[in-house]
Amino acid sequence: MEIKDIKQVDLEGKRVFLRVDFNVPLNEKKEITDETRIRAALPTINYLLEKRCKVILASHLGRPKGKVVESLRIAPVKEPLGKLLNKQVTLAPDCIGAEVENLSLKMKEGELLLLENLRFHSEEEKNDQEFSEKLAKLADFYVNDAFGTAHRAHSSTVGITEFLPSAAGFLLEKEIKVLSKLLQNPERPFLLILGGAKVFDKVGVIKNLLDRVNTVILGGALSYTFVKAKNWDVGNSYVEYDKLDLVKGILEEARKRRIEFHTPLDHIIASKIAADSNYITTERGTIPSSWIGVDIGPKAIEEYKDCIKRAKTIFWNGPMGVFEIEPFAQGTMEIARALASADAYTVVGGGDSLAAVKKAGVREKIDHLSTGGGASLEFLEGRILPGIAALQKI
Ligand code: AMP
Repeated sequence: MEIKDIKQVDLEGKRVFLRVDFNVPLNEKKEITDETRIRAALPTINYLLEKRCKVILASHLGRPKGKVVESLRIAPVKEPLGKLLNKQVTLAPDCIGAEVENLSLKMKEGELLLLENLRFHSEEEKNDQEFSEKLAKLADFYVNDAFGTAHRAHSSTVGITEFLPSAAGFLLEKEIKVLSKLLQNPERPFLLILGGAKVFDKVGVIKNLLDRVNTVILGGALSYTFVKAKNWDVGNSYVEYDKLDLVKGILEEARKRRIEFHTPLDHIIASKIAADSNYITTERGTIPSSWIGVDIGPKAIEEYKDCIKRAKTIFWNGPMGVFEIEPFAQGTMEIARALASADAYTVVGGGDSLAAVKKAGVREKIDHLSTGGGASLEFLEGRILPGIAALQKI
């Protein structure tokens, strides 16, 4: 079923509960170190303001686990948001309750109210019906623009839709459109690049995309389980031994489908995962027993760059190595730069890959930066995201 977007509904002058993803990174001084998530919500907020809505903004921040945690108050978002919109933002003392309801009723057209961290209430993550109803009381209409939490069935993403007419914001709509295209009709060759830590997190995507992709390239910690599954020596690299059979099955499926499936031809290996560690380059299958693979090597980089050049659609999630440590960041940076100069339609998802794209200075050159790492992976796994399904049933 089609999802209604905010242009298809009459919002003129209404109180709109807008679920956004302001789960921004903060430093010790509680300053926001990256405003991307706030900026991503601006098109929807500005549209609602144009329609003279009373905009009630709601988000979670961090993991307060159902309690008030002073360091996770939403307050640091107020000023940068106000500056970006050139508008006054009122901070509510909570996200539910009589006082907040009163504030919402007193709002004038074109005003903004920022609710306190939704996750200060344990009911939010339980999708509690009563809590959902209390949130709904603040508004006449619900808009979801928080793709990053669309894979969670929470009160502010699912429960609230039982009580209010609902629609998708522009950001959510764009994410659905881009990711659906990857699943339904990607221009080929379609290249999947996966890296990062855990096989478990990414294996569903590989499985679901096996019928759609032409090429898969792997890097990061997860690639060593695949290398091990081919019986090559991986030394002391991170391997998920309990996933070896699963990974062997995937390799077999990929072979049957004649998919080009690459694991790194060579590796950067280190004696420990630390900036002051010794490190050298080694061929695949020759990692000595006490050494750890920490990045893809120069031959792998060249091979992967060639795959990127040939592709027409690319999805990338997960760094190629321990990119937080400078000497082990080369593979990830090279992949980011290669994506930036590729002919292909490029989609990057996941916090670490976005950070890498930013660090490489090529953010503007990627076609779509997905704001939800986990959500984009679940979408590409072919799963129904509860936050999206909740908007469809209306
Ligand atoms: P993910 O959240 O699954 O995308 O994983 C990202 C994390 O994987 C980053 O913190 C990387 O440092 C880590 N990582 C990437 N390559 C390796 C590796 N070869 N060994 C250990 N950790 C790695």
